Amino acid sequence: MSTVTKCYYEILGVSRDASGEAIKKAYRKLAMKYHPDRNPDDPEAETLFKEAAEAYEVLSDERKRQIYDAYGHEGLKNNGYSGPASSEDIFSHINDLFGDLFGFGGRGRRRDPNAPIQGDDLRYDIEISFMEAVQGVTREVEITKRETCWTCEGTGSRPGYRPQTCPTCHGRGQVVRSQGFFQVSSTCPQCHGAGQIISDPCVDCDGTGLVNRRKTVSIRIPAGVDTGSRMRLAGEGEGGRRGGRSGDLYVVIHVRPHEFFQRDGQTIFLRYPLSMVRAALGCEVEVPTIDGTAKLKIPAGTQSGERFTLRGEGVPSLRGGARGDMIVEIQVQTPTGLSRRQKELLQEFEELTGEEEEGFFARLFHGHLGRQKKKDEDREGH
Ligand SMILES: [Zn+2]
Ligand SMILES: [Zn+2]
Repeated sequence: MSTVTKCYYEILGVSRDASGEAIKKAYRKLAMKYHPDRNPDDPEAETLFKEAAEAYEVLSDERKRQIYDAYGHEGLKNNGYSGPASSEDIFSHINDLFGDLFGFGGRGRRRDPNAPIQGDDLRYDIEISFMEAVQGVTREVEITKRETCWTCEGTGSRPGYRPQTCPTCHGRGQVVRSQGFFQVSSTCPQCHGAGQIISDPCVDCDGTGLVNRRKTVSIRIPAGVDTGSRMRLAGEGEGGRRGGRSGDLYVVIHVRPHEFFQRDGQTIFLRYPLSMVRAALGCEVEVPTIDGTAKLKIPAGTQSGERFTLRGEGVPSLRGGARGDMIVEIQVQTPTGLSRRQKELLQEFEELTGEEEEGFFARLFHGHLGRQKKKDEDREGH
């Protein structure tokens, strides 16, 4: 019987127009905080836990929420609602909502001990080279996994024998003990939740229904993957039991860096060293690309750090769209280890251009000084 008179919205700490999702979230937080497993022998927590459950039961039900919004607690009572029927109701709510949070066996798995059990998913991390990632590659990998035992077809019982109902839990998979107001369920210690005991285990799998097998799996990695890319190979995970389907195999990609290519999504970056003279005079160079090489025209007077784009020379799209671009950044190299003749030529060059350059800087510099001087005069003038 409901004894709650507090506002349901206040109990959950949500506004009156809160969405179903917000209500669920708020309840989940409170249910975890005040759950009797975490607060043994704490009557205050127990009360708050029950209140939250009742508030959630009403506000998560559209019809009850409408009645409550219009007529309050009285309206619900007049419509025959008297709070959660029992503590078991509260727990079934929690398990439906949040799954096996507290070890109560959510997912409904233990409710039917003969239900098929799906195989676990597996994760396989694979390292590939930069070029393999941009060009695609097929890898054969050997994995050891548990597969369905075909002698017993995953039942765990010797062929011709049937499992027996567990005498401790009578097939429920859970045992219930009382703890104050609550009945706390826990996994049956004899059958570990299966609800049945295998009296004549299959000799090939020792009654587990699964056997270890090494298997070679061919993984086709498409061009364009990057570190963190995930591929799902349906049915390549662990085998199911009692007719359940196999899990999936998730392949997680890790890409080793390249010697000189860098990558950001579909764009490839390349730093290209160029001699000072060629940068000044302009030239055509052949730059490496992920497919081979490409010609790139460098205009005369190119500065260090200048970037050129080669359209369509980047990484292919995983979704079949256009290829990315490649960006070439020029790094002008200052010559070292000059011969005497080279030094002479450069000095001559300097004599020819130095005056001009000085003139340029002088103009800039004196212009700056001039403006500064005028500013100072203006300031003094005031
Ligand atoms: Zn078997
Ligand atoms: Zn049992």
